[in-house]
Amino acid sequence: MIPFNVPPFAGKEMEYIQQAIGAHKICGDGSFTKKCNAWMEERFHAQKALLTTSGTTALDMAALLCDIKAGDEVILSSFTFSSTATAFALFGAKLVFVDIRPDTMNIDETKIEAAITDKTKAIVVTHYAGVACEMDTIMEIARRHGVKVVEDAAQGVMSTYKGRALGTIGDFGCYSFHETKNYSMGEGGAIIINNEENNERAEILREKGTNRNKFFRGQVDKYTWVDIGDSYLPSDMNAAYLWAQLEIADEINEDRLASWNHYNDALQELKAAGKIELPTIPEGCVHNAHMYYIKCKDLKERTDLIAYLKENGVLAVFHYIPLHSAPAGLKFGRFEGEDVYTTKESDRLVRLPMYYRLTEEDRNTVINAIKAFYAARA
Ligand SMILES: *Cc1c(COP(=O)(O)O)cnc(C)c1O
Repeated sequence: MIPFNVPPFAGKEMEYIQQAIGAHKICGDGSFTKKCNAWMEERFHAQKALLTTSGTTALDMAALLCDIKAGDEVILSSFTFSSTATAFALFGAKLVFVDIRPDTMNIDETKIEAAITDKTKAIVVTHYAGVACEMDTIMEIARRHGVKVVEDAAQGVMSTYKGRALGTIGDFGCYSFHETKNYSMGEGGAIIINNEENNERAEILREKGTNRNKFFRGQVDKYTWVDIGDSYLPSDMNAAYLWAQLEIADEINEDRLASWNHYNDALQELKAAGKIELPTIPEGCVHNAHMYYIKCKDLKERTDLIAYLKENGVLAVFHYIPLHSAPAGLKFGRFEGEDVYTTKESDRLVRLPMYYRLTEEDRNTVINAIKAFYAARA
């Protein structure tokens, strides 16, 4: 069976974990954590990057930094992972879902403004499949209304929008290093802080509400409890694991892109025949091959295709059940405007196996199985 995902492994993970253990410094903010933070800051021209225990807790931190309180509203798309929503619901926000664009499955930037009220505190955009949302328009709307922008760039590490790294465009960016993502530390993530004025509060929130970071830098002579907060620091062992992958980030990226391009070239024929639809990468967007998906005619055809692929040794999977129709979505949110594409398009989407070192032979097996499925239906 060709798996859907194989967590990335670079080769030096054990060596670096051993170094972390040898340094007897496996708590948070050890030397590997610092290396990862500095690497993200340099590589992505990020003002500040801080590793967190997950993409979800990076979003929690972003919600706290946006000062989300009960009764505030947050605008997001419904076609995203539950973490995007729950991080804001956790602090009492009402979720206002708007429709997606069918070409990228990202939030439809033209639907955002109509959803803004005097309670709107933030717009949270998910860069689906590592392909950027229309950030120029979104930032312009947000600035005009004085609301914050949080980028859920969990899938977008190494992607860019008009030359800028995803996560560095809004007020805050959130990355995930879960094992299903392009770079992994098992469980982990990072928050990108794009305005210097938020640095101090971010460090305090991440360190249980204490000014411990200032203490380590010698800026105060003892540290104390100064604000609310939580423990968002991963162990340096996890950071050591991630470091091995960041060191070869370009190799991993290129390998994935080669797989993505192979799928995309080989499936053009089925697209031209009107059988399936393929992903769209808008101009100005450079993606990271986080995902390769195709769209079938409808839910019934997708169900049949997934079953057929499974019979033929290929694990392909569908994706999000729109949040607005999930039990918690009904409780904490509402859909603003009409659901033209969110449900319809999510019903048709199927993701193909995609991981670092997916072999050409396995890609051909996947492609040939899809072709055989549609040939039998012609
Ligand atoms: C993976 C993911 C998350 C959550 O990241 P974790 O590290 O698993 O907590 C959030 N949002 C999106 C869009 C994701 O894909």
